[in-house]
Amino acid sequence: MRDLTALQQTLRDLDGQGYGSYKRLKGSYDMGGFTLSVDHTQVDPYAPPSKIRVLLTPEQIQLPTGWTRTRDQRIAAADYLARRFNDAVSGHQPRDSPNDSASRPQHRGRWGNASSSGDAHALKSYTHGQEVLERSSVVITDHRVEVRLEVALPAAGRRIKGRAASRILTESLPQVVAALAPENRDDDALAAHVRLYEDQLWLAQQLPARGLVAFVGDGAVLPRRSGDSQLPLQRGAVPFASPESLAVDFTLPSGNTVHGMGIPEGITVIVGGGYHGKSTLLAALSSGVYPHVAGDGREWVISRPDAVSIRAEDGRSVTGVDISPFITGLPTGVDTREFTTTNASGSTSQAANLVEALESGTSTVLIDEDTSATNFMIRDDRMKRLIPAHKEPITPFVERVKPMLENTGVSTVLVAGGSGAFFDVADHVIAMESYQPKNVTAQARQIATETPWGDEADSAELSPREVSPFRARTPRIIHTGSLNPPSKSKPNRARGRTEIQVGKELIDLNALAQLVDAGQTAAIAQALDDMAAGKQENIALQRAAQEVMATIRDRGLDALSPRDGHPGYLAAPRQQELQAVINRFRGLTLANGSRQRPAG
Ligand code: ADP
Ligand code: MG
Repeated sequence: MRDLTALQQTLRDLDGQGYGSYKRLKGSYDMGGFTLSVDHTQVDPYAPPSKIRVLLTPEQIQLPTGWTRTRDQRIAAADYLARRFNDAVSGHQPRDSPNDSASRPQHRGRWGNASSSGDAHALKSYTHGQEVLERSSVVITDHRVEVRLEVALPAAGRRIKGRAASRILTESLPQVVAALAPENRDDDALAAHVRLYEDQLWLAQQLPARGLVAFVGDGAVLPRRSGDSQLPLQRGAVPFASPESLAVDFTLPSGNTVHGMGIPEGITVIVGGGYHGKSTLLAALSSGVYPHVAGDGREWVISRPDAVSIRAEDGRSVTGVDISPFITGLPTGVDTREFTTTNASGSTSQAANLVEALESGTSTVLIDEDTSATNFMIRDDRMKRLIPAHKEPITPFVERVKPMLENTGVSTVLVAGGSGAFFDVADHVIAMESYQPKNVTAQARQIATETPWGDEADSAELSPREVSPFRARTPRIIHTGSLNPPSKSKPNRARGRTEIQVGKELIDLNALAQLVDAGQTAAIAQALDDMAAGKQENIALQRAAQEVMATIRDRGLDALSPRDGHPGYLAAPRQQELQAVINRFRGLTLANGSRQRPAG
C-alpha cells in the first residue's frame, strides 16, 4: 500500500496533465489514521464525482464496546457515524446531542459539502433523513468501518490541478475524518442512538402480542414543519396525549418506560372536524413503520413494520390483480379476478393497491379519506336507489372492511371525517379534537343503533349482491424476464425518491408514501436490475421480493451495489415498497395470468 507521501508525490506529478490521468490515483493509501481507497475516478471534470472510501480498522476507530455486536446495533451505530461525518463535511460542528440532527435543515439536496477549507464543495457525503435505515454510506463489519463518499477532483479547463487535489485529499479529508476519531466523538450519544433504535425495534415486535397495530407515545409531536419538510413543527405543536381508555405502557429493554395510545387490532376509525389533526395522525402511523431519530417527535410512534398506506392512484398500471372482492361487472366486461389496465380509475386503483398490500402479507392497512376515491369507500342509500346494485360494479369498502378482517385477519385504521357510515363496523372510534384524541367508541355505537345506515325496510333490494371472497392471498407468479424490456440497454436509474427509469419507461412512485428516502428508490432500481439479470424465472411476486430482502439481511445492503462499496447512497427498502414498484411497472407480465409474455 502506498502512503501519504506517495499520494502527494503522485498529485505533484499529475499537476497540469490531462484530466484522464487522475485514474493513476486508483488504489489504497495509508493516510496515518485511516486508509484512503480511491475506487473510481471521473473521466472529465463534468462527469459524476469520483468515488472514494475511508477505511478504519477497529484499532483506528475504537468504537465503544458492546454497541456494535448485533446487526441492528451496527445499523444504528453506522447511522450515527454517518450523520456525524456528514455534519463534518457540511462544515457543521459536531454537536453533543443526537437530538440536534432533527433541527438541521434537511432539504439541502442529497449532498453535504465540505466547506471547512478553501476547497469547499469538493468532498460530498450522503445526507440522511429522519428515519434510521440500513444504509451504504457507512458500513461496520468485524474487520473495519467503511465510509463511502465522493470527491470532485479539481481541474483548470481540462487539466489536472494537482496541488488543489492534494489539499482536498491530504488536508480536508483527514480533517473531516477526524470527526469520527474517538477523542472527537461523543460515545454516550452514539450509545443513546443505538439504544433508542433497539428499543423502537423491540416495541414494534411486541405489538402483535399486545393485540395492537400501532402505538403513539404521550408527548409525541406529530405535525411536520411544512408540506415538504419531515422536520417537526416547532411552534405551537400540541403534544400527543393518549385517552386513558386506550392507554398502554411498555417497559423497554433499556429499562425506560413509554406510555401512550395503543391502537388495537380490528377496525379503527379516526373522526373529527376538519383541520383537527386526523390526517397528521394517520401520516405519523404510516411513517411509524420506520424508526425515527431522537428529536424527530415521532420516535415513539411505532406501527406494525408491515403496515401499508392505501390510496387512490388513478392512471397507474395494474397487472392481473384480483380486485373482485370490491369490483365486479365493469362495463367493459373484463374479468376483475385478473384485472389488468394501463390506466386505472380512482376506485380500481385503490382496490388494486389494497389487494396488492394483502398479497404482500400486510397485517394492517391505513386509509385516509383525503386520498381515497369516495365511491370506493362508501355509497349512500339515495345513490343505491338511483343506481341499483346490479348496475354498480363497486361494493364499497365500508361493506367489505369487516369481511376482510374476518377472512384475512388484516386490520384497518381509517380516517373518515365526512361520513358516519363506518360507525357500524368500527371496533374503535377515535375523535381528534384540537389535535387531541378522544375515545368516542361508545357514542358512535349509540348513534349507529339510533340511526341505522341503510333503510331496513328496503334492505333486500339495497343489500349488495354476492361478492367474491378474499382470495387475495393467492400469489401472482411474475416472469422476472419481463423486468428487462427489449428497449433496455442501460441499468435502471432512480431519479430522486419518486421515479425509476427502466428502459424507456418511467415508473411513477409518487403515490408510495412509505417510500421515504431516495436511497431506497436507488436500492429498488438496483434490485430490479438484479432480478432481471439473474436466472429468468417464474416466481411468486412476494417470494421474489422476500428473496431480495433475505439477500440484504444476509449479505448487507452492499449485496445490491453494482460496484464494490459504491454507491454510498443506498438505503434499505421494505419488501412492501419493492413489490409496489414492480406492481407499477407497465411491462410486467405474469406466468399464471391471462396476460402472458407477448411473443417475440
Ligand atoms: P385534518 O385531517 O383533521 O383535516 P390535518 O391533520 O391535515 O387535519 O391537520 C391540519 C393542520 O393542523 C396541519 O397544518 C397540521 O400540520 C396541523 N396539526 C396537526 N396536528 C397538530 C398538532 N398536534 N399540533 C399543532 N398543529 C397540528
Ligand atoms: Mg385530513
